[in-house]
Amino acid sequence: MEKILCIAHTQPDGNLPSVALEALGAAVRLVQQLDGATLSVGLIGQNVKPAAESVATCGATRFLSVAGAEFEVSRYASDAAAVEAIARSAEATIVIAPATLRFSRSLPGVVQRLKGRIETHVTGMDAADGKLSIQRWYYRQRMMATLTRMQRPWFLLLDGGVFPAWQGEPGTTTLENLAVELGENLLRTKVIGIQAPSTNARTIRPNADVLFVAGAGWTKKQADGELHLNEAGERILGFLANCNSSLGSSKSLVDQSVEGVPVLPFMSHLNQVGQTGSTPRHPKGLATCCHGEEPHAVGWRFINERRAINTDASCGWAQGKADVLYVADAFQVMAKVNELLAG
Ligand SMILES: Cc1cc2nc3c(=O)[nH]c(=O)nc-3n(C[C@H](O)[C@H](O)[C@H](O)COP(=O)(O)OP(=O)(O)OC[C@H]3O[C@@H](n4cnc5c(N)ncnc54)[C@H](O)[C@@H]3O)c2cc1C
Repeated sequence: MEKILCIAHTQPDGNLPSVALEALGAAVRLVQQLDGATLSVGLIGQNVKPAAESVATCGATRFLSVAGAEFEVSRYASDAAAVEAIARSAEATIVIAPATLRFSRSLPGVVQRLKGRIETHVTGMDAADGKLSIQRWYYRQRMMATLTRMQRPWFLLLDGGVFPAWQGEPGTTTLENLAVELGENLLRTKVIGIQAPSTNARTIRPNADVLFVAGAGWTKKQADGELHLNEAGERILGFLANCNSSLGSSKSLVDQSVEGVPVLPFMSHLNQVGQTGSTPRHPKGLATCCHGEEPHAVGWRFINERRAINTDASCGWAQGKADVLYVADAFQVMAKVNELLAG
């Protein structure tokens, strides 16, 4: 019988990140599917009591924690020590964790210590005949594999935006706090601050309902034979502000900055969507002035509803890659859309 442990760490405000609630939702569902399985929750952070209370009614039989100032920050050595202590105490056979930066970095090391196995980028879980199988993608999101393993403990790092988040009432719970001694050698890495782009410059919003993707067409000569970079920037930023959407880009557009072509200053390689870029997950996506080439469209695999605007009726989006293609000038369409949204 499986002993399932769902682990999470708090974010700076003391709450659990949404991706942790998604992992908990997946763990609760798995416990229901596997006969005799039990659920424990493990929490790491400075003070995890509020977080524990927020998920108190999830059905876990044990709430384990490693808490204290040293566990507030992201540091491989302390995170690995905390997860190891929780997993050992829970005698976990399956450990489910959200693919946060902290866990993506520290869990593979814990798995070595516990002589277990780990699957990263898990995007699906199923339990048939009492046996758990998981799904993950390979070859840059082109091939999906279904895997199962005999080895325990089996750690699963779940990608964000795939599993429905756990929802339930808060409550009270008894926290079992585990004492983890951190010697000097585990505290050598000091977090002295965080450097992040200013709010204005932050265009990547993983939780946004809409992904707006800009392609190289925005920086090409238009029907009047001229470039319209300022208008392009206004249209794109206007839509982002109006809709609080996330900004993606085709590879061609972000590559132009390295090639010395005038580009949109708020765009960087971090925005790139596709085979060699990220594979964001949002309910809806709108591609503008990009062609819908295969490597680029692969990055849209997890967008539920895809729409595109292109002046070319035979662009890649028209070949079955978008649900709706507007054959139109994106400069004009987005000016009108922004006008309607602002009004
Ligand atoms: C190995 C490999 C890996 C790759 N990986 C990636 C990847 O990870 N991500 C990625 O994005 N690409 C990737 N590419 C490149 C990809 O194949 C495409 O070349 C690229 O995405 C094209 O970018 P684009 O559509 O913005 O530009 P273009 O192909 O130049 O298309 C611009 C489009 O804008 C349209 N347009 C112009 N003006 C307007 C207007 N006013 N209104 C509406 N539409 C207009 C044009 O009709 C045209 O279709 C990869 C390529 C290779 C070979």
